[in-house]
Amino acid sequence: MKILIAGAGIGGLTAALCCTRRGMDVQVFEKAPELSEVGAGIQISPNAMRVFQKLGLDKAIIAKGFVPGKLEARMGQSGRVLFAIGAQSYGAPYVHIHRADLIEILSAALPKDVIRLGKTVTGYEQSNDDASLTFADGTNVSGDYLIGADGIHSIIRAQMIGPSQPRFTGNLAWRAIVPTERLGDLTPDPNATVWMSDKSHVVTYRLRGGALTNFVGIVERDDWQQESWTERGDLSDLKSDFKNWHPIIENVIQNIDPDDLFKWALFDRGPLPRWTAGRVTMLGDAVHPMLPFMAQGAAMAIEDGYVLADCLARGKLDEYHRLRLARTSRIQAQSRANMTTFHRSRGLGRLSYVPMWLAGRIAPPLVSRRFNWIYGFDATKQI
Ligand SMILES: Cc1cc2nc3c(=O)[nH]c(=O)nc-3n(C[C@H](O)[C@H](O)[C@H](O)COP(=O)(O)OP(=O)(O)OC[C@H]3O[C@@H](n4cnc5c(N)ncnc54)[C@H](O)[C@@H]3O)c2cc1C
Repeated sequence: MKILIAGAGIGGLTAALCCTRRGMDVQVFEKAPELSEVGAGIQISPNAMRVFQKLGLDKAIIAKGFVPGKLEARMGQSGRVLFAIGAQSYGAPYVHIHRADLIEILSAALPKDVIRLGKTVTGYEQSNDDASLTFADGTNVSGDYLIGADGIHSIIRAQMIGPSQPRFTGNLAWRAIVPTERLGDLTPDPNATVWMSDKSHVVTYRLRGGALTNFVGIVERDDWQQESWTERGDLSDLKSDFKNWHPIIENVIQNIDPDDLFKWALFDRGPLPRWTAGRVTMLGDAVHPMLPFMAQGAAMAIEDGYVLADCLARGKLDEYHRLRLARTSRIQAQSRANMTTFHRSRGLGRLSYVPMWLAGRIAPPLVSRRFNWIYGFDATKQI
């Protein structure tokens, strides 16, 4: 079976691996002239790590990444812990990794010549017997099935469903990586920590065995709508967005190299009722882009890749959408809802943290169990 994949992001590469492991002949077409990712970290939660365990890549990911002790929620100014639960209690590892390291591990695990760089997809055609991709350089290629893994502005999606703009969520993300040794006594704990505040939150975690600290600062602002990781942010702007935060956060910001500070407007879309048309289907951000407030966008793309390869191998492509829609839609909705949960520390809104704080003090196992549906899920056993 010959599979064409548009896009060599985390989703496209994982799908390519899952398909090649089932003996399919795969080609991945990427518009960028080289494989690269933004200079930032990514959290790979246990549900996604189960797929990488199946692919035999878990050890390489752990070796290049960082294994956090806890998943924590704190108040942004006081640093008060709202809850802290074990990150490694969901039956598979919870790992943080530099995005470039993950892309390197995935691409190195693929047979040579699977990835074709500098190939910009402009559309597709299909018949009863095959599906083909057309490229900006005037060439085309055909195969048995086509997977659109070409991200939030997917060309495949636009052709299948009709063109539409993603919606701006009113949030701006600041991102930077800081050498941990610079941070001294005010280093964030070796956990995945969400620091919550008014109309903003920060996420801190470590990468590369702890040598790097990853910073993501989210602020509700509607004066910036650019999506470009090459867009550098202004450090003084970042400082004013996070003025009077906990000294640990101010210290991280203080130590950011201005050349390594980027900003990115956050967009999402609502769930899509149809993912497949004939021999063409989609996965990841192409079909269910979401706010990163559950750190599940790539995890969903990784799960999609596994389930899709399973469906193709069984000749049941029509089942793929049915198997994935409810879960990905729920995660999209919860990611949006977390904006309200995370960004309410002023006035009466602060009271909304009380149940979280009480549960965190009285019954951490209860809090931990609330994440079971996300982290305990095993896509490798879905069929
Ligand atoms: C601030 C932030 C933090 C996040 N943190 C996490 C996290 O901790 N954990 C997590 O699971 N997720 C996280 N996410 C979400 C995650 O980054 C995305 O969901 C994930 O990268 C989507 O992968 P993808 O392969 O579907 O799409 P993409 O990564 O967008 O890949 C699409 C690929 O297709 C290529 N492409 C596009 N158009 C064409 C074309 N016409 N022809 C050929 N190639 C094309 C692109 O160049 C790209 O390589 C975060 C997102 C943000 C913004």
